[in-house]
Amino acid sequence: MRAEYREEPCKAALNRVKGMAFAWSLNPYMGCVHRCTFCYVRAFELRADRPYDARYGTSIRVKVNIAEVLRRELARPAWQREAVAIGAATDPYQPAEGRYRLTRGCLEALADASNPFSVITRGPLIVRDADVLAEAARRADVSVTFSVPTLDPEIWRRTEPGTAPPRQRLRALSMLVDAGVRASVGLAPILPGISDRPELLAEVVREARAAGACGVWANTLHLRPGTREHFLECLARDWPELVPRYESLYGRRAYLPRAESEPVRETVQRLSRRHGVRDRRRVKLAPPPEPQQLDLLAGL
Ligand code: SF4
Repeated sequence: MRAEYREEPCKAALNRVKGMAFAWSLNPYMGCVHRCTFCYVRAFELRADRPYDARYGTSIRVKVNIAEVLRRELARPAWQREAVAIGAATDPYQPAEGRYRLTRGCLEALADASNPFSVITRGPLIVRDADVLAEAARRADVSVTFSVPTLDPEIWRRTEPGTAPPRQRLRALSMLVDAGVRASVGLAPILPGISDRPELLAEVVREARAAGACGVWANTLHLRPGTREHFLECLARDWPELVPRYESLYGRRAYLPRAESEPVRETVQRLSRRHGVRDRRRVKLAPPPEPQQLDLLAGL
């Protein structure tokens, strides 16, 4: 499906976030041509009265001036150099980034400001920016997470119609880790009855370890309104026999009951320990210690 690209400048680059693990987010694009059936952003689109169904990902907003706006925001005296999450509401390395290079421009701005940040992506294109990521990691805390919920080709094809094959993500991870950048794998979202089979989870953790992942974590599918309608429609098309199970598991809830989600997370943690997943980078790029710490040491 062809996407339309709308080049629309933005007034603000950094978004204040509440109720998440990070306080600030940054999204150079709005909308995502990867169009994953489980995409949680569909829920935000519904709330914003934008298409969340099969039309999601067919019209992408391109914030053409975002890197300049970001530079101005990072230079404000009131800015406290808080960590910025890139890619929370769209994939920053979807194909448009090959042409527009907006994510790269933002990484350069963050590196120049020695500002910590994290990136989450399914896009192997990120290896193009290994140089900027390495430079940024020398100046501030930087981490990259590759979303790899499964390596099963059939599940991938049916649930992520627009992404590159997941093994390409692991190759990209390997290249970043070799460059000294901390990179991990997020098995998310795990789909009950589809990608939660122990042998499938084990395959991802084993291959993540082989690629050099510094960590792995897992999360199960959330079905908020917007995501729910589209996902269940796709489920009825691809795995009709599972529809009753999902209806009973989720009911009217957005989240799986703890008794269902916790065992999946525990399995992944157990696999992680068994395979010895940890930070094994040969070169661990990291910022120099904070000046206060140096002052303290000088006073000893
Ligand atoms: S890559 Fe991420 S943002 Fe894009 S459609 Fe998939 S889940 Fe949504």
